[in-house]
Amino acid sequence: MLDKGFLDKLKGIVGDENCRTDTAERYCYAFDGGIHRAMPDAVVRPQTTQQISDMVKLANEYKVPIIPRGAGTALCGHSVAISGGVSVDLQGMNKIKEIHVEDLYVVVEPGVIYDQLNAALAEKKFFFPPDPGSAEACTIGGMAACNASGMRAIKYGATREYVLGLEVVMPTGEIVEMGSRTIKDSSGYQFAKFMLGSEGTLGIITEITLRVIPKPKKNAVAVAAFNKLEEAGQGVSNIIGYPVLPSGIELMDDVCIKAVNQATNLGLPEVEALLLIEVDGHPEAVKEDIEKVAEICKSSGATSVEYTDDEKRKVELRKGRKSMIPALSRYKPEWAAVILADDMAVPISKIPQTVKAFHEIADKHGIIVATYGHAADGNLHTKVLMDPLDPEHWKHGEQATAEIFEAVHNVGGTTTGEHGTGITKAPYMRAERKSLIEFMKKIKRTLDPNNIMNPNKMMDWEEGIITHLRYPVNIGGGTDPKNPEGKKSGGSD
Ligand SMILES: Cc1cc2nc3c(=O)[nH]c(=O)nc-3n(C[C@H](O)[C@H](O)[C@H](O)COP(=O)(O)OP(=O)(O)OC[C@H]3O[C@@H](n4cnc5c(N)ncnc54)[C@H](O)[C@@H]3O)c2cc1C
Repeated sequence: MLDKGFLDKLKGIVGDENCRTDTAERYCYAFDGGIHRAMPDAVVRPQTTQQISDMVKLANEYKVPIIPRGAGTALCGHSVAISGGVSVDLQGMNKIKEIHVEDLYVVVEPGVIYDQLNAALAEKKFFFPPDPGSAEACTIGGMAACNASGMRAIKYGATREYVLGLEVVMPTGEIVEMGSRTIKDSSGYQFAKFMLGSEGTLGIITEITLRVIPKPKKNAVAVAAFNKLEEAGQGVSNIIGYPVLPSGIELMDDVCIKAVNQATNLGLPEVEALLLIEVDGHPEAVKEDIEKVAEICKSSGATSVEYTDDEKRKVELRKGRKSMIPALSRYKPEWAAVILADDMAVPISKIPQTVKAFHEIADKHGIIVATYGHAADGNLHTKVLMDPLDPEHWKHGEQATAEIFEAVHNVGGTTTGEHGTGITKAPYMRAERKSLIEFMKKIKRTLDPNNIMNPNKMMDWEEGIITHLRYPVNIGGGTDPKNPEGKKSGGSD
């Protein structure tokens, strides 16, 4: 419950109409795209940086948690108000303020949606490349806070490669400009980069200056089927080592293929692995590269390869991958694709043995793990397929998740390639990065002495992962009738 004095002052800052405390409104902000749930005490929609600064200063005075939020598409409970407090919806600050393609930069407010920015840039034959799967909805502020990326990272990198400057309201309410509008900048600490991946724990990003680049003139797509996962893995290494630099290589394992075939009439070949390979660039280079990709896939053991630069056929070839996520949730009646173990990155050459290890772990626990991902940069995605209302499935899912991350760490991999940590990956990041965790805690305590910015996340999440669940299942915390709002007790320090 928020102090009435705090609430009145908060309304004074953002206006009555932009501060909501009714249950229905707060309920909509209790989730992100992951498995956790907890209601904030209020939802505010600030319109200016000054309002945000005033609000953060007020929150320090009353020691109330502040949870920045873009589109809420993150997948690990990032913006779930686990200790209550104020959910700060930044979607209203959604202006593209400046476009200077001749200087290779744009300036945007944090609530601008990825696809909307690229639609504006396309008119000038430019783009901002990271391309997350949530491109239609996610905000640039959320992307910067999570250092998001996507299928094209092998060639174009992640959000961090494009952030030139940020305006940030720090946890004390101070407004700080970091970085610049120039391609080169050696002026002092590179704090704009430092904020990337902070997931709302170190401040609120209120303006972003992004580098943009010219759009490639053409692209082409190939789909290759492999009877053996190892051969698909070898194919990826052979393409990259040739060298051909693809703009993406997507892998689908046999569980994903079966799910798509069950849910659609696409009739994908029922093999151990499919690769969807994309190349882009100058038309002549694209032709040469896609032909070479097809040749390499065949010599690596592909049983079939199709490639095309025809616009209509490209859409058809991409359909299998595009329909996969909803297809996985229809794998078995009453089951769902649950975001438990997901988004790990391993050295590219370790993909086949890692996927095999995932399947063995799933068999051991009587659950199904579907694996797909951005194979060209070693970023694997898994979905645990299970009955989310069965407590036994959750217990096995949790054990399997721990073993999956152990397998990832054993091959030199990392806990999260692009989604970030939030709650769901916190125990595994802690296992992987012991010294970094302690350092992150020191930085957080220094910059945010009252621990108000998105508290109890990442390095500060001390519990397991199957608590505060959004599913009505009697397990972990958060569904206790005495704690209907599912808040973590204790709140801020
Ligand atoms: C279907 C689907 C596909 C996805 N595919 C990908 C993918 O391919 N690659 C990928 O990287 N991610 C992917 N994601 C995850 C997610 O979409 C990205 O992490 C995205 O960048 C989150 O943006 P958002 O606006 O939804 O942020 P939110 O979910 O609202 O917030 C995410 C985190 O950032 C913080 N935050 C948000 N805005 C600000 C701000 N202005 N200042 C400070 N902190 C802020 C929040 O506190 C929170 O911790 C996917 C999600 C879904 C649902």
